[in-house]
Amino acid sequence: MECKKDRNKENCNCSYSCDKKGVCCDCITYHRNLGQLPACYFPNDVEKLMIDQ
Ligand code: SF4
Repeated sequence: MECKKDRNKENCNCSYSCDKKGVCCDCITYHRNLGQLPACYFPNDVEKLMIDQ
């Protein structure tokens, strides 16, 4: 199966510069292990607030 990283990045609303951007399997695993949800679970204005804090 071909990785969909480039296509995923087009729909990713995460404003943080991160090497997992577009690699949703790694992204969700990373945040799940921290007890968090990734950026795409939040509207853009809320996601930005979380990064700024
Ligand atoms: S949600 Fe987290 S892991 Fe995913 S791209 Fe953004 S900063 Fe990286």
